[in-house]
Amino acid sequence: MVAEKNKVVSIAYELHVDDGESGREFFEKVEASDPFAFLFGADNVLPKLEEAIAGKGKGETFDVFIPYTEGYGDYNEEKKVVVPKSAFKENGEKQRHLMKVGNVVSMQDDRGNPMRGEILKIDYRGVLMDFNPPLAGFDLYFSGEIVDVREAEESEIEHGHAHGPGGHHHA
Ligand SMILES: [Zn+2]
Repeated sequence: MVAEKNKVVSIAYELHVDDGESGREFFEKVEASDPFAFLFGADNVLPKLEEAIAGKGKGETFDVFIPYTEGYGDYNEEKKVVVPKSAFKENGEKQRHLMKVGNVVSMQDDRGNPMRGEILKIDYRGVLMDFNPPLAGFDLYFSGEIVDVREAEESEIEHGHAHGPGGHHHA
C-alpha cells in the first residue's frame, strides 16, 4: 500500500529550519515509535511535503526542501496585533492564567475562524499578540521515513483528518 488519497499515512521525521539569518537549525524530531499520522490528500500537511511522500510505502524515506514561500509564507508584521484584555474571557469569566508572555492561545477572529496567537507583551494598552504561524518566514528541510500506510476509515474521510494514535483526538 502506498501513500495516496484517502490513506492514513504515519511518518517519522526530523525538521530543520532556516530563517535566512542564523543558518540551518534543528526544530523538531518525531520518532518512529510515536509517529505523526495524517489523512493524505486532505490539506492536512504542506503540499510540498505531501508531494515528497506520494506513492511511497512503509519503510521508504523522503527528503524535501520547502522554501518559506511554499511553506508557511512570509512573516507578516500586520499579524502582530494588540488584543483588548477583555478578550481573555471564558463564559464571562476573566482567564488571568492565560495572560502570560509566551503563552500560545487559541482564539477566534471576528468571523469565528479559529486562530492561534503567541502573547508577546502585556501592558496598559492590552495584550500584544503574534498570529503568524510559528514557522512563518522559515525555509523547511524535512527528512523522514514512512512508518505506516493504511486505508482511511469513513469517519476520517468525512472529518478530513486522521483519528487514533498520532492523529486527531476528539473530546
Ligand atoms: Zn474527526
